[in-house]
Amino acid sequence: MAENVFITEETIEGAADGPLAGRTVAVKDNISTAGVRTTCGSKMLEEYVPPYDATVVERLKDAGATIVGKANMDEFGMGTTTETSYFGSTDNPAAPGHVPGGSSGGSAAAVAAGDADLALGSDTGGSIRCPAAFCGVVGIKPTYGLVSRYGLVAYGNSLEQIGPFAETVEDAAALLDVIAGDDERDATTHDAGDEANYADAATGDVDGLSIGVPTELLDGADDGVVETFWDAIAELEDRGAEYHEVSLPSVEHAVEAYYVIAMSEASSNLARFDGVRYGHSSDAEGNWNETFAQTRKEGFGDEVKRRILLGTYALSAGYHDKYYKKAQDARAWVKQDFDEALSEADVLASPTMPVPPFELGESLDDPLQMYLADANTVPVNLADLPAISVPAGETDGLPVGLQLVGPAFGEERLIRAASALA
Ligand code: GLN
Repeated sequence: MAENVFITEETIEGAADGPLAGRTVAVKDNISTAGVRTTCGSKMLEEYVPPYDATVVERLKDAGATIVGKANMDEFGMGTTTETSYFGSTDNPAAPGHVPGGSSGGSAAAVAAGDADLALGSDTGGSIRCPAAFCGVVGIKPTYGLVSRYGLVAYGNSLEQIGPFAETVEDAAALLDVIAGDDERDATTHDAGDEANYADAATGDVDGLSIGVPTELLDGADDGVVETFWDAIAELEDRGAEYHEVSLPSVEHAVEAYYVIAMSEASSNLARFDGVRYGHSSDAEGNWNETFAQTRKEGFGDEVKRRILLGTYALSAGYHDKYYKKAQDARAWVKQDFDEALSEADVLASPTMPVPPFELGESLDDPLQMYLADANTVPVNLADLPAISVPAGETDGLPVGLQLVGPAFGEERLIRAASALA
């Protein structure tokens, strides 16, 4: 078993039969499991035991899966390396001594190490695709609204989706079949997944597929990553796909826009952790304000505090128009650019991450370096679109992921194309 993959290792048995009978699944620890601790990688929720299951957990159990543990993650999903977890970092089974990516690093590592057949993660700005790329496995970030977020502890709720990890595209698609679809408890869900058959789409047929390569998503990427990316595109070409360059001019603003929106939503979502209703409560004496402040000081880690402060600032009177509204305008522009690029190609392709996995500890002191590593993943969340990360090969022995992005609810198309590679 790989090191520190799970925060809680408790088995939750599913139904006796169903499409996932006999399959083991790791579940990211921000997805609620009735009666089993759900910590979000935070001291704040170290002892929190949800009274109900997330919709996706209910669906896993009904499908006959066995949940084998709650997987390590960056605290409240805030990170790209799984090193902001209160429970310590997770080693990368595919590249020992390196981070597994984040924030769903434990989920990807569980699959890469063979500790689980499948895993669930959540992706607000890349948290499924980044760890999939870094650990050499497959990860799918569904279209916003395809999968219910009921029971997912919110970080940036206008951006995030729960999605699957697996060794193969077909297995990831089979898990998506189980979790996708309308849910009356999440008003943002769509019925697009109810009729779809994602696993059957994994035919590997890319004959005639047109691939758009946004040049901006190659700018600034590591040379070895770019080389590996083009090798994977050449493989798709050999199988009958064609590629051409496209442009997404707005993506140069995507990281800034994403972090303003994500931190603003986080500052509001995390206000509920006040030591009264949920989780950690300080023993410090004092009036309500003092106890509230002390509880949050003790319960949250540095990265979470940084984001609450910046998000609160961006939303405050006098700054709202300058930051939050501007970020929303940039989001609209990014969406429009993707629509245009996807009118010129069936799918868009880029390296999932512009860099190979960092060494453990390497990026911890430099949050900006970490934020910039999200350059290729966050635009997709701003645009609400589906994307898949599939192993493309290695550079210097480190895994590299290929990201394919499709139109809204175009998961079957992505699965068909990606299954030519894994
Ligand atoms: N790395 C990004 C962040 O820190 C994405 C995280 C995520 O998708 N949960 O916000």
